[in-house]
Amino acid sequence: ELSVVQWSSSGGLVAYSDSRSQPDEVPASIKKKVVVLGTGWAGTSFLKDLDASMYDVQVVSPRNYFAFTPLLPSVTCGTVEARSIVEPVRNIIKKRNGEIQFWEADCLKIDAENNKIFCKANFDNNTVGSEEFSLEYDYLVVAVGAQVNTFNTPGVKENCHFLKDLEDAQRLRRTVIDCFEKAVLPDLTEEERRTNLHFVIVGGGPTGVEFAAELHDFLIEDLVNIYPTVKDLVKISVVQSGDHILNTFDERISSFAEQKFSRDGIEVQTGCRVVSVSDKEITMKMKPTGELCSIPHGLVLWSTGISTRPVVKDFMEQIGQGKRRILATNEWLRVKETENVYALGDCATIDQRKIMDDIVAIFEAADTDNSGTLTMVEFRAVVDDIIARYPQVETYLNNQHLGDLTDLLKDAMSEDKKEVDIEGFKKAIHLVDSQTTSLPATAQVAGQQGKYLAKCFNRKNQCKEHPEGPRRFAGPGGTRHFFAPFRYKHFGQFAPLGGEQAAAELPGDWVSMGHSTQWLWYSVYASKQVSWRTRMLVVSDWTRRFIFGRDSSRI
Ligand code: FAD
Ligand code: MG
Repeated sequence: ELSVVQWSSSGGLVAYSDSRSQPDEVPASIKKKVVVLGTGWAGTSFLKDLDASMYDVQVVSPRNYFAFTPLLPSVTCGTVEARSIVEPVRNIIKKRNGEIQFWEADCLKIDAENNKIFCKANFDNNTVGSEEFSLEYDYLVVAVGAQVNTFNTPGVKENCHFLKDLEDAQRLRRTVIDCFEKAVLPDLTEEERRTNLHFVIVGGGPTGVEFAAELHDFLIEDLVNIYPTVKDLVKISVVQSGDHILNTFDERISSFAEQKFSRDGIEVQTGCRVVSVSDKEITMKMKPTGELCSIPHGLVLWSTGISTRPVVKDFMEQIGQGKRRILATNEWLRVKETENVYALGDCATIDQRKIMDDIVAIFEAADTDNSGTLTMVEFRAVVDDIIARYPQVETYLNNQHLGDLTDLLKDAMSEDKKEVDIEGFKKAIHLVDSQTTSLPATAQVAGQQGKYLAKCFNRKNQCKEHPEGPRRFAGPGGTRHFFAPFRYKHFGQFAPLGGEQAAAELPGDWVSMGHSTQWLWYSVYASKQVSWRTRMLVVSDWTRRFIFGRDSSRI
């Protein structure tokens, strides 16, 4: 059968048959089915790097776009427009010559035993035909992100705003304007106007702080001129259960933010926990005294953390992870207790293997002469594999300012005996596991995981033949893992604080704050955009805001 006909360079007509032309290409019939759930940071970065010609790829997500979440707070006040920070999924997959299929639907259930998922599309308008379907997979990539955690606080679901996806940001923008329009209606008392203009933010993490800063900027740069009669009645409060806002950041940043907020008149209430929210009031408990107090509000933003989505929770119960809080994978991002399901981004966490769980196996593997003791030479032969297999080792060495893992063993060896037995070996190594950490739920982590997993998928065949991971200490003698485990590289984090000021925490314990950091923020976030199209839209939104201010239409 002749399928490709083209002119060769010599000018003659050459005909290729499918099978002869590209020996590497996998015929469609035996391509493995990869199903990807979610088009957020993790899912999109996986799709962008996956060699889609090797697999039969299908993507399921209820949103047919990727949203650049770090700019969501800017959407709430119209600093950037919603459409400027999204990229249609179909644009992303178009570049892959239609080798990827996309279905706009929610995955409602994963059937782990039968390698199947069940989905339902969700359209507001009346469409014809069934909205339910199921898909089979050989490999499943779960990247559905997380949902807001209300901690079952009464009234939160009904009466609070969230800032998790684009629709939330758009709704917030409308409600903020509504609060002002309501506050200037003719027959209100001053008390009522004040209530409508009391904005409460629950949670002093980066999202809450950034929204407070955006709102304050919007107020003093734009709204005071549009609503002059009520400008002195506005109040912004941040309620935080811990002692400080931005408590995952460096102390210097958190106190810089607190000082800036206090100058700006943003009230920061620390040490109090919200116990309920009604449509008019928010009730909190002061931690030290235990007393309750209720304050009237116009709008509450709830941003206190994330929890597992129901579809993932159900899956966890099927595979025996029901007792866990969050889906656990191994260091290669494969879901524990499964063979062919991977999970990445906010919906999962890497359950790092403890080095002490393998300590006997490591010792036996290293003790090549079976003497029951390790010499330095024997130990050196396995050091690289240990460092590659257990990421906590590197963290521990850095924190202890040790250059080399062999330093640990040196201390365990006495002057006269240049060897160490299993007990001495355990003693030398046992503190290393204290450095086991879980990665933060950030776009940075999700993006790197997507890229990593795509690379593993692309090189599955090569690496099965020529494994390039660390040695399997516990497994059959001498074999290696196919791939090196996932390693996260931290590039630092930003906290925009309003008034053209930002704080940044950069690798190497470097902290920078102020106006120049805001410019660094602008350039980093412009460069991180997924396409030149969105980059141009975002930069032109910023420019428009500088020149004309923000748009206060309630759209
Ligand atoms: P998401 O990006 O949330 O994507 C999940 C995807 O799954 C979505 O496409 C969703 O539609 C889809 N989905 C949901 N349910 C289903 C289902 N049932 N079936 C199929 N698909 C489903 N991180 C940073 O590093 N820097 C920042 O500055 C930063 N700022 C942030 C600001 C805000 C306001 C927010 C909310 C987050 C911010 N983050 C930031 C965190 C970052 O957005 C998340 O860590 C990141 O989005 C996680 O990526 P993900 O792919 O796991 O999940
Ligand atoms: Mg020995």
